Amino acid sequence: MEATTSLLDAAAVGDLVLLDPLTEESLLQTLQERFRRSNIYTYIGNVVISVNPYRSLPIYTPETVQEYRNCNFFAVKPHIYAIADDAYRSLRDRDRDQCILITGESGAGKTEASKLVMSYVAAVCSKGEEVDKVKEQLLQSNPVLEAFGNAKTIRNDNSSRFGKYMDVEFDFKGEPLGGVISNYLLEKSRIVRHVKGERNFHIFYQLLAGGSAQLLQQLKLRQDCRHYGYLNRESSGLPGMDDAANFRAMQVIGFSPAEVTALLEVTAVVLKLGNVQLSSSYQASGMEASSIAEPQELQEICELIGLDPAVLERALCSRTVKARNEMVLTTLSVPQGYYGRDALAKNIYSRLFDWLVNRINTSIQVSRKVMGVLDIYGFEIFQDNGFEQFIINYCNEKLQQIFILMTLKEEQEEYVREVPPTHAGPPLCCPQCGILAMLDEECLRPGVVNEDTFLTKLNQLFATHKHYESKETQNARRVMDATLPSQCFRIHHYAGKVTYNVTGFIEKNNDLLFRDLSQAMWASRHELLRSLFPEGDPQKVSLKLPPTAGFQFKASVATLMKNLYSKNPNYIRCIKPNETKTGMLFTPELVLAQIRYLGLMENVRVRRAGYAFRQLYDSFLQRYKMLSPRTWPHWTGSHREGTKVLLEDLAFPPEELAFGHTKIFIRSPRTLFDLERRRQE
Ligand code: ATP
Ligand code: MG
Repeated sequence: MEATTSLLDAAAVGDLVLLDPLTEESLLQTLQERFRRSNIYTYIGNVVISVNPYRSLPIYTPETVQEYRNCNFFAVKPHIYAIADDAYRSLRDRDRDQCILITGESGAGKTEASKLVMSYVAAVCSKGEEVDKVKEQLLQSNPVLEAFGNAKTIRNDNSSRFGKYMDVEFDFKGEPLGGVISNYLLEKSRIVRHVKGERNFHIFYQLLAGGSAQLLQQLKLRQDCRHYGYLNRESSGLPGMDDAANFRAMQVIGFSPAEVTALLEVTAVVLKLGNVQLSSSYQASGMEASSIAEPQELQEICELIGLDPAVLERALCSRTVKARNEMVLTTLSVPQGYYGRDALAKNIYSRLFDWLVNRINTSIQVSRKVMGVLDIYGFEIFQDNGFEQFIINYCNEKLQQIFILMTLKEEQEEYVREVPPTHAGPPLCCPQCGILAMLDEECLRPGVVNEDTFLTKLNQLFATHKHYESKETQNARRVMDATLPSQCFRIHHYAGKVTYNVTGFIEKNNDLLFRDLSQAMWASRHELLRSLFPEGDPQKVSLKLPPTAGFQFKASVATLMKNLYSKNPNYIRCIKPNETKTGMLFTPELVLAQIRYLGLMENVRVRRAGYAFRQLYDSFLQRYKMLSPRTWPHWTGSHREGTKVLLEDLAFPPEELAFGHTKIFIRSPRTLFDLERRRQE
């Protein structure tokens, strides 16, 4: 009886498609019970759900790698290696580009999962000097990118503050040749501000803790974090993270020593900008003006980047504006001055990060068959949701849409016949694209723009949209709802309703850097820094405004979607089981919320709309041939014919079965349980 019981025993269901009955509770319980038994991986068809164990499990050993190498996906326990193996083999043997999409909320284990996939692929593809070099380069890009792109947050000590997509390229034998990395939306506001208990990007602490006295002197830095305003003047140590060791271990592959120096110099400049203080003075005209309070820091910055301090001082304290066809220099108030300073620091850092990614790419880039790994921020619903959440959720909405599209596409390809139109409904049509377009329109409009007019316009545009709500549309629809404040709008995402506060939307979308500041940067003799500000070239003064943050993000998401759609998708859905980073603790309410955000029920339903169970003819026949005297003990015809005969004898209703070219498909779990039961008898 054992196989039957284990199949029927909900907790042992390794594939949620077989869950019967399928409800949110049964899904949750299954995950919980499996988690309790340290089975952190569970499937939905070929989608892997991974629940973060927050402790190291002995399941990533070289022996495990061997076990999953060339495994039959359904014959071994669910594991992230099985998906990596499946993807790698279809790439190598069937010549299909693959992508692996990893989603989940902060701290759920996405980055760890992406590293596990990469290291698995590195372990199973062949060895050799050339290949090893490539593998090393690919794996070694991680520490540098994490140093510059990750930070400690309340939710995760090593939180990725950017989205990352990496295409690994292979030759026809399946050996890695190189890769290309794309990065999405670095959280640059962290440069100038972070909440108590969090940190700025790791690199600053690593540099201060691990840089030699000579290096720090060269960069004009002091070792003590508390000296720096952007580091919140806190001491910074993190348990379990050795900043100094991480800095010393970091190798920037393929960079010349001069490039490393330039990289660190610009990093130091960002840190030091945070210490440039302004004070206010009044001009003869009575206008408030700002001036540099203490010239030392400014002086040092300018020495590092080869710039006349007077140029930087002028750019920080004043601004050229065009008035009646004439350029006039106006003074800035102290808050305006700080705004400009912070905008400059954020821009330098985020452009430096882009440069870093591009620079790594030039040392690893080639072009052949590819396997992409996407590690991107999951759906976010906070108490207060702003522009960043809006953008992140927009991306997740697109990913969910593409998931449904691709699953259906795959079903159609795999089942030969059409998928019955019984899936969970067409992908949602979300108002987000329209909102971003409207936001751009507002940002480009001359004259006073503010968030009130933006919201008013949204209310007109989406007056009847069923996924959009605001105080005004609620009033028009006669909905009584005290939970929606007037400066907010609410969107019904596939994962739930999110209320966004429009405050800050315009400023963040504009992402304005005064032209005087980019011109000052361009005037420096520091080659790297100068190259980050091409628009500062006075020859190239363009009257066109730079593209907005929303526009850039929308464009990069569109490119990403196109790229993903051309590949064979593999999914890893990460779940965070508790808020306290505690080993093996499972908080059901928290997991349930993520089951919703990840759209797992919808996942299962879409899968089920086709056939729950699929197996190659030979393995199917091998397992069940004993159930018919015509196939037992030896069937001499084709496996496909044998399976037909066998199932004829068992008299299952024909709509339960579909015969593919290589696989048998069975629609409902009950039929499968029935088969298992008979087999046991
Ligand atoms: P963010 O969105 O903030 O970047 P993330 O989803 O990338 O979060 P990770 O950084 O991958 O989250 O994981 C957070 C922490 O959880 C890791 O630092 C590690 O301690 C633990 N962890 C994640 N996955 C595993 C695993 N498979 N085994 C053991 N510990 C894990
Ligand atoms: Mg991460």
